[in-house]
Amino acid sequence: MCPIHAQGLQTWPGQLTPSADLQLPCGTVLDFRAPEEILRSHADLWLTELSGLSTEMLDSGWSDVLGQAHKALSARLNEGDKGDGEDVGVLSDVVTMAGLAHRAAVAGDLFQAASSLSLAETLALKF
Ligand SMILES: [Zn+2]
Repeated sequence: MCPIHAQGLQTWPGQLTPSADLQLPCGTVLDFRAPEEILRSHADLWLTELSGLSTEMLDSGWSDVLGQAHKALSARLNEGDKGDGEDVGVLSDVVTMAGLAHRAAVAGDLFQAASSLSLAETLALKF
């Protein structure tokens, strides 16, 4: 964080000094958790609710989980009635990112899957 914003967050557990080496913009958060933990966090915080997956399904492996989520979100996109003012363009972008996350998980790259879901989450916040 830059010095101006760091002043207001003295109890923030992360680094409060600007990172001259990394050249990161103020407010950037680096996530050092294992990709499985990041994926689980996405599932718990928004993906299961948005895609309608059951939490029991989360034990079946990330390629299956992300495949089911992508399928469910694609079906939602293709429904005639989009519900309460849901932005079809945004949902289409979320479906694309969920599809990329699924493909990455199938290829065994859970870091890429987690990155794609992070972008999907940012998009989904626009609903
Ligand atoms: Zn700042």
